[in-house]
Amino acid sequence: MEKWAYLWKSPGILGHIADIWSRGLDVRRVRYYYGYSMRDQQRSRVYRAERAAWDCADPEAPLSLSECQGLVAKVSGFLGNRGNRMIPLVTDGRGRRSACATVTRIKLPVFARTRWQVLHECAHSFNTARDHHGPYFASLYIRLVRRFIGPTEADILKIAFKEFRVKYRSGGLL
Ligand SMILES: [Zn+2]
Repeated sequence: MEKWAYLWKSPGILGHIADIWSRGLDVRRVRYYYGYSMRDQQRSRVYRAERAAWDCADPEAPLSLSECQGLVAKVSGFLGNRGNRMIPLVTDGRGRRSACATVTRIKLPVFARTRWQVLHECAHSFNTARDHHGPYFASLYIRLVRRFIGPTEADILKIAFKEFRVKYRSGGLL
């Protein structure tokens, strides 16, 4: 009941309900949809886990902005661009303290121009469940790392997620 209580207290609830209907979401998944879209519960755990994974994996050469854009385009092709008609535009995020992603745009400060970071942002942009750093985000992130970095790195990320109690789900809305 507690989960539903904050749902009803939140602003724009009619818009969210319309969104659920328009997406044809399974009612059983609504709890996950809201549980993480309203409160970004596992964000700091995702950050800690991925940093641990990056430390274990081989270091990467930084990418140029156009290489980052190329990777985003490949991710878009790989996912069949479902629920996301345009490829997000990669822009210079210099001066920002962190990278950020929406459906249409990914902003990357210089230090964030690595495959890991770009795939993290893609897991936001292309996540049709829009659960911030929730279980659908995490499983999409693993899937993209497996495809675009490698199976070993994906396994490292999975182990780190388990270690830091980051929940991830396979399949579902992705
Ligand atoms: Zn993020």
